[in-house]
Amino acid sequence: MTTIELIERRANKHLRRWLGIPPSFSSVGLYIRSGQLQLPLSSVVEEYKVAKCRVVLSLRDSNDDLISQAGMTTRSGRKWAANVAVDQAVSSLKLRDIVGNQCIHRQGLGSAQFQTWGGSQGAWTKWDLPRRKVPWRELWRLEPYHISFLLRYVYDTLPSPVHLHTWSLREDPLCKLCGKRGTLAHILSGCKTSLTQGRYRWRHDKVLLSLADTIERERVKKRPANTTARRAITFVKEGTGPSQTTKRKRTSILQAASSWEMRVDVGRRLQFPEVVQTSLLPDIVLWSSKDQKIILVELTVPWEEGCEEAHERKAAKYQQLAQDCRDRGWQAWVFPVEIGCRGFPARSAWSFLSAIGMDEHSKKQAARRMGEEAERASCWIWSKREEESWKPGADGQ
Ligand SMILES: [Zn+2]
Repeated sequence: MTTIELIERRANKHLRRWLGIPPSFSSVGLYIRSGQLQLPLSSVVEEYKVAKCRVVLSLRDSNDDLISQAGMTTRSGRKWAANVAVDQAVSSLKLRDIVGNQCIHRQGLGSAQFQTWGGSQGAWTKWDLPRRKVPWRELWRLEPYHISFLLRYVYDTLPSPVHLHTWSLREDPLCKLCGKRGTLAHILSGCKTSLTQGRYRWRHDKVLLSLADTIERERVKKRPANTTARRAITFVKEGTGPSQTTKRKRTSILQAASSWEMRVDVGRRLQFPEVVQTSLLPDIVLWSSKDQKIILVELTVPWEEGCEEAHERKAAKYQQLAQDCRDRGWQAWVFPVEIGCRGFPARSAWSFLSAIGMDEHSKKQAARRMGEEAERASCWIWSKREEESWKPGADGQ
């Protein structure tokens, strides 16, 4: 065990150097399997333990009596014994069967390690967002500074004014732009000055363009016109249910009408189609005058912890407008969509993409593209946190 731990320490040192991770960052973040951001790395110590336990179990539970009764011991040193670990795991599973599954919130097995996550590094445990896996091919593709940034971004260990102040590296913990407390959350989504300067709007529009592009591709896709009118009747033999093939595929909203038009509120002011009079302007409006159907999409790029709240706020905001459309005899849908500003699409994004009929693969790609736009723009906003003037587009973006 001591040898293995030595190997792990050495591996850790090099991984940290490669990925540019500061010493303050807990190693748990590199290996965690249930984390918000999952890297394809595994702990050598853990792999070793798992392998040893597997040997213990396969010998002990062998169908061959000669093997299971032979009393073989799996050697793993004095510090940690595989057979003891297996016994403990088995008895704790038995105990769990007796007391029932007592998990706190969303924490699962092995949640004891959260205790090692001091302060803000564990804030993501409160997120209610689909997790993000970084596979090897992506890890290779990302610049080292980027992955370091991503990790510190998600686990909030970037040198924000507040952190610098706590680490005694800065006199004040204040935002350079507005003078309020400069946390990462403040800089990326809570600063009034950034808001009025249009920094957040600029990021929002970047993500919006990506979303609009996705919808546009779906809109122009050739799909069979209104299928409901001439759907063939399928006869089912007496005593049998509908076979697998005759079951209706989930239809998308877009399929329910032909000739969809789309307007996106970016650049010039969007004019709401002549269904009702309104001063509200959702980010994207899709409608079919012929079939009297309208879809309102509103995008928000909030701080990850604020996705749920943003969703409810936006849903409430457009409820009346949708009702007005319905009162005119139109069929109306409202989709508030959130993409967290650190690049995590909320469930609302996935369900919207499903609703317009995208398959799993294209959904994944579209969500990743939007997440990347948000993350890249946030990275830019972060890098300009000390600069009082803001000129997007000038350098490189
Ligand atoms: Zn500020």
